Amino acid sequence: MLYKNFSLKDKNTFGFEVFAKKFFEYESESELIDFLRENQKQPERILHIGEGSNLLFLHNFDGIVLHSKINFLETKEIDNQEVIVRVGAGIAWDRFCEMMVEKGFGGTENLSLIYGEVGAAAVQNIGAYGVEIADIIESVETIEVKTAKNRYFTVKECEYGYRESVFKKSKKGEFIVTAINFRLQKNPTLKLEYGALKTLLADNSNPTIADVRRAVISIRESKLPNPKILGNAGSFFKNPYCCKEHFEALQRQFPKMPYYPVTIGEKNFSPIQKLSAAWLIEQCGLKGHKIGGAQVYHSQPLVLVNLGNATPQNIAELSAEVQRQVKAKFSIELETEVNFIE
Ligand SMILES: Cc1cc2nc3c(=O)[nH]c(=O)nc-3n(C[C@H](O)[C@H](O)[C@H](O)COP(=O)(O)OP(=O)(O)OC[C@H]3O[C@@H](n4cnc5c(N)ncnc54)[C@H](O)[C@@H]3O)c2cc1C
Repeated sequence: MLYKNFSLKDKNTFGFEVFAKKFFEYESESELIDFLRENQKQPERILHIGEGSNLLFLHNFDGIVLHSKINFLETKEIDNQEVIVRVGAGIAWDRFCEMMVEKGFGGTENLSLIYGEVGAAAVQNIGAYGVEIADIIESVETIEVKTAKNRYFTVKECEYGYRESVFKKSKKGEFIVTAINFRLQKNPTLKLEYGALKTLLADNSNPTIADVRRAVISIRESKLPNPKILGNAGSFFKNPYCCKEHFEALQRQFPKMPYYPVTIGEKNFSPIQKLSAAWLIEQCGLKGHKIGGAQVYHSQPLVLVNLGNATPQNIAELSAEVQRQVKAKFSIELETEVNFIE
């Protein structure tokens, strides 16, 4: 379906009323290929979106916004330990997690209730409670925008890092994810090291993946604002890395400063610590700080919310103000996690 002058209000979780010159939704890979071939004749700017839960549209989009409704799920047996599950990019991420937990396949449970769709999850390398999607991806199926040809990426070729992938860096905007192959466990090993999760399951001597999913959902529901009630895009900033010397200097000045050990996927950075962006923002006294209708969320300062009357510029100004104050107090540059769309 091709729509013109299409409102994106319901397609971004900040709830901003911005318009796309054109909006195209497709249900199969072949529909997408036909569309891209047609677009080659008179190329227009393309932006592929999922649920818009990590986007900040700064104004109307002068081009074509694409959205996938590719919706299938296939299970391929490998052995009695593992299973490969192939999933269409248009399925809601949490629906996929729910289905995997119902089937008893382990791997997605810690990533329950993250907003968005399967395709975007592979672009973003979503992560929560000690797990990243990169840990369970086998390969990613894509179509190249320029050539409309298929291309498979092995997990290694996806170059995953902390909320990073090749699709956000060197090949940004060049490939559209159509499906993902996940490698999941039939006899799941649970990952329960993460603080709040460990506490919530402390009384359960033999938790299942369904218990983990329930615990994750309950923690997330108590901590994060629901975008249907208060527009937001989750964590607005990434937790920053900090080199050893700077980290030690900060620790002398702020002995209670929290930090995270770098995870396996980030081993290259081993002498570096990861700091809590939320803590840094809170220490600047920015909890509840407002610019126009945009606010640093009172109970989770990593989240910027639209109080109902914010403009995209209010959010962008608030983001810049948070970055400026954190830099001035800690000499740390906060990088945004949210994708700004010009
Ligand atoms: C309340 C809340 C809590 C959140 N918590 C977390 C969390 O715990 N962990 C976490 O990692 N994230 C979290 N997020 C962020 C968000 O859920 C993820 O980034 C999610 O993967 C975005 O999915 P989406 O479908 O909304 O993608 P969008 O926001 O629409 O797009 C994100 C990026 O992916 C690209 N893209 C989308 N679909 C495709 C495709 N098929 N092919 C190629 N590129 C594509 C877009 O161009 C864009 O660059 C949270 C968001 C909210 C609102």
